[in-house]
Amino acid sequence: MTKPVSPQAPIAFIDLLAQRRRLGARIEDAVMRVINSGAYIMGPEVTAFEKDLASFGAAHRALACANGTDALLLALMAWEIGPGDAVFCPSFTFAATAEVVALRGASPVFVDIDRRTYNIDPDHLEAAIARVKADGKLTPKAIIGVCLFGQPADYGALRQIADSHGLKLIADSAQGFGATIDGRHPIHWADVATTSFFPAKPLGCYGDGGAVLVRDDAMWNLMDSIRWHGKGEDRYAYARIGLNSRLDTVQAAILIEKLTIFADEIERRNTIAKRYNQGLADVATTPFVAPGYVSTWAQYTIEVDDRDGLMAHLKDHAIPSAVYYPRPLHTQPAYQAYPQGPGGLPQSEAAARRVISLPMHPYLEADVQDHIIAAVRSFAR
Ligand SMILES: *Cc1c(COP(=O)(O)O)cnc(C)c1O
Repeated sequence: MTKPVSPQAPIAFIDLLAQRRRLGARIEDAVMRVINSGAYIMGPEVTAFEKDLASFGAAHRALACANGTDALLLALMAWEIGPGDAVFCPSFTFAATAEVVALRGASPVFVDIDRRTYNIDPDHLEAAIARVKADGKLTPKAIIGVCLFGQPADYGALRQIADSHGLKLIADSAQGFGATIDGRHPIHWADVATTSFFPAKPLGCYGDGGAVLVRDDAMWNLMDSIRWHGKGEDRYAYARIGLNSRLDTVQAAILIEKLTIFADEIERRNTIAKRYNQGLADVATTPFVAPGYVSTWAQYTIEVDDRDGLMAHLKDHAIPSAVYYPRPLHTQPAYQAYPQGPGGLPQSEAAARRVISLPMHPYLEADVQDHIIAAVRSFAR
């Protein structure tokens, strides 16, 4: 075991400034180009970034929008999902996954997770669909799988279930854009894959941003209308009710630069995750990544018996940590009235009691990481 060192600078949970230093003048140049161009809304950088993003994520096309929540909303609006419809999704996720469903007046139906991957459990999903069908009150319309902490859900299994019940499949890749299963991106299975450029996500911008990856032009054209107030043939002809949900040109220009180093950053995150695994596997439950899956490590999340004790111990060592997520959505006032799969969600509740996420970003240095590992070990002992 390496001797613990006391790093000079405070340890960041996610160090966005290290990446900023690496990109240097490329960011200033990109931002200034847009500012001097005058094309602040839907400038040429937006289209260029959409091309780059689609290519990175192996999608037919990508559509940029205002944030990762709207990305989900755009898909639900395009499919006219609304009152009386059921959308199956996990509860152990960020609120936006279920929020957009409720916002449309449809009903989220909460499904439990696979205890090892934290992603939606296909068996419980089948059971939840069967229950909704038997009840006859809601019409099943879609499934939202989430790449929680950066690892793709079992999209192959979800696709089969979606097909056998005639449902749409969304991959909520806000945390997992760039993640793959046997080299394939989620859009290989999903009807759409969405992502977020919130600064702390693996591919973040310097503000809010999001995108939807699609498999055909028809879906892209529909969402292009919805993101711009439902525009029709010309600007002031409205074909439908839409949103104001565009990605700022400045953010697109920044993202073009960030995307050029993103593959390298995913590699670095995987190296760091491996190092954490080696240092912690005997004192905590370290993350399980299924064979053939590549995670983008939005979070490095372990489980321990005394989570709150470990958090306090790390705080004493000036090490930031976080809990994603302390309370599954189905237990919260805003969501508790919505239906759940049969037997409730015991795995989601158990995970919520035990998980703790450690500092994770592509620029976490080995000595700092050793200090974190040593602190976790000294608590476990
Ligand atoms: C962050 C996140 C979103 C929402 O993204 P925003 O850009 O913050 O709107 C949706 N789903 C998941 C799983 C997320 O982590």
